[in-house]
Amino acid sequence: MVTLAKTELFGLFAAETAEAMKPLGLEPYRGKQIVEWLYKHGVREFDAMTNLSKDQRVKLALRFTIMKLSQKAAQHSVDGRTSKFLIAFPDDMAVETVLMRQPYGNSVCISTQVGCAMGCSFCASTLGGLARNLTGGEILSQVLYINELLKQEDHKVDSIVIMGSGEPLANYDNVLRFIRLIHEPYCLGLSYRSITLSTSGLVPEINKLAEEAIPITLSISLHAPNNELRTRLMPINKRYPIEQVLAAGNRYAEITGRRVTYEYTLIAGINDQPVHARELAALLKGRLANVNLIPINPVPERGLLRPAQTDIVRFEQLLKSEHLNVTLRREMGTDIDAACGQLRHKVLSK
Ligand code: SAH
Repeated sequence: MVTLAKTELFGLFAAETAEAMKPLGLEPYRGKQIVEWLYKHGVREFDAMTNLSKDQRVKLALRFTIMKLSQKAAQHSVDGRTSKFLIAFPDDMAVETVLMRQPYGNSVCISTQVGCAMGCSFCASTLGGLARNLTGGEILSQVLYINELLKQEDHKVDSIVIMGSGEPLANYDNVLRFIRLIHEPYCLGLSYRSITLSTSGLVPEINKLAEEAIPITLSISLHAPNNELRTRLMPINKRYPIEQVLAAGNRYAEITGRRVTYEYTLIAGINDQPVHARELAALLKGRLANVNLIPINPVPERGLLRPAQTDIVRFEQLLKSEHLNVTLRREMGTDIDAACGQLRHKVLSK
């Protein structure tokens, strides 16, 4: 007897699902019914799909699989607002997903790769290199996992930040599939505006993203006001130096009409001095841009420290005095290893 490899359904669009069902003789409208079970209702067994016949459910189970996740670890902040989960896929590869209960709604921070290849000197995600890309379905499954948790409290996911482990634009097609899927009415129907993608600055992919006609918010990790310092912190700067990154940011803002956010992680004695603030202000002045200052979450393996509060405030004030739009990230969950990759790294190192 020949056994066919089963096809994973999670991560398919309704039309693709309908197409995959064709050989089983299911009517085209069944595609939408099935994805609604999977994405809207959180069903993970064919047997629970009660608008299909028993015979159809048995046939489906023979040919298709539905991805199931397992939770390897969870940490909750003392104030109860931030929860971090280490979530494993069927091949036992695990990523971090974080739920942040903000005053304006529930935000989920998701990972797009297992590990990361970018090698930024302050980040925990990249310590073990890149293991693999996540599929669109695996990226989506993190959001739906949290959404099912929230349903139990009569809540839902309101916004998404693609700021967990991995470089999303290095996994472009899978990330785009995820963004389009989560927007579908048969999925969560999230508006593109409630999705933020953060990149270390892959210029060709930023340019490509600008042409997709999906007005998500783009955040670019800058972290330094000159090439010499940025190259020390972020090796990718050798390939795409600051001038190219800023030009791509400008272009994104022009095409989409959306302000770009530049993230700047403040590290004591490295990039947090008045000279850096002035250089940064000169660089960003007159652009359709926001600056998001993030005091570093110290990663023990990295030996980098958080600046004194007075230095953080002085940096912020200097940028404001140059009329830049500045926000200081409200830190959530620093008591639970919320810096990207810290929980996974800790569990793996054991
Ligand atoms: N690869 C993407 C997404 C990564 S994480 C990117 O580089 O943008 C989202 C943000 O957190 C990035 O700006 C990243 O540089 C920053 N970050 C990483 N490690 C950090 C740490 N230990 N403390 C503060 N910010 C950190």
